[in-house]
Amino acid sequence: MANDSACDRFNPWGVIPSEWKKLCKETLGLPAFRGDQIATALYQGFAEDWVNVSTLPNQLRSQLQELMPITPLREVAVSSSDDASTKLLLECPSDGEKIETVLIPSKQRLTQCVSSQVGCNFHCAFCASGQLGKTRNLTAGEIVGQVMAACRHLRASGEQTLQRPGNIVVMGMGEPFDNYDQVITALKVLNDQKGLSIGARHITISTCGVVPGIERLSGEGLQFELSVSLHAPDNLLRDQLMPVNRAWPLEKLIPACKAYTEKTGRIITFEYTLIKKLNDRPHHAERLISLLRQLPCKVNLIPLSPVEEFSGKRPDAEDCHNFLDRLLQAKIPTTMRYSKGRDVNAACGQLRLKSIKN
Ligand code: SF4
Repeated sequence: MANDSACDRFNPWGVIPSEWKKLCKETLGLPAFRGDQIATALYQGFAEDWVNVSTLPNQLRSQLQELMPITPLREVAVSSSDDASTKLLLECPSDGEKIETVLIPSKQRLTQCVSSQVGCNFHCAFCASGQLGKTRNLTAGEIVGQVMAACRHLRASGEQTLQRPGNIVVMGMGEPFDNYDQVITALKVLNDQKGLSIGARHITISTCGVVPGIERLSGEGLQFELSVSLHAPDNLLRDQLMPVNRAWPLEKLIPACKAYTEKTGRIITFEYTLIKKLNDRPHHAERLISLLRQLPCKVNLIPLSPVEEFSGKRPDAEDCHNFLDRLLQAKIPTTMRYSKGRDVNAACGQLRLKSIKN
């Protein structure tokens, strides 16, 4: 297993833009203004090689190349779906590990779903990533690198109007709170005005229910959105679908979510994948309502997209609409979301799983 901290410790994309000045002054022995020049070159200029950064003197370019070369993720496979979602399989230059990211266009903006780990240790029943197990955490530089790779992909595809994604969701391979520090650093880079300048409210962290992560985030004073994958309204079923529930069952998870909303004044989005006859019955809706009634939240219902590794079936449209109606009647803001990119192996981890199997 790779050493997470050493893996690409010097990746410049893992440095928060505001820290470049300090780094220049205290570590590199350079005037502080070089910090701004470096951040501009990285995030506005999309530099991928210091040698080409003409705003910096030659000697400094060589120094940076030596100390912290920019190490872009290599695009090794691309798959597109009928609904225009695009999935990129990327290779980490440090050890050749493969990670994936998905671009999901909508009328308003382009959303990018990024990975936080190589594989995942949480073993959710319907998830390909969970079947692989975790190989290692991604560094902040590698998480930001996925967005830079998407920007490069957009430029190469001639997408002149869409130079960067407008929404980021940390919902790809991995559990973000199992790699808390690196994920938060990466999101600060993406959010920073001198970074990618993506608004905090357009950045969502999605957890399977890691309570210590929810508690820690609630004390950070950050404006990122939080989404919690629930998928079952009782412990018996949730234990089966999401083993994380055995460590943090609903009687711990729901109070932690409530405390989060009280402390931050923000709402939580709960993701609930509807699976035929398993969790889409009227009594499941009633149980979900009683669980969430006291919580400032919204619910996303997602009819299951069948995957090879899970025997669950897509629910009937009528059952989905009845479930939705019942939650709305109970005044819980709820939307039905159809997962995009179903025909491009878009459930998390599937493209990587395929590349490993082939
Ligand atoms: S759904 Fe998320 S947390 Fe669960 S196994 Fe997949 S990647 Fe891990």
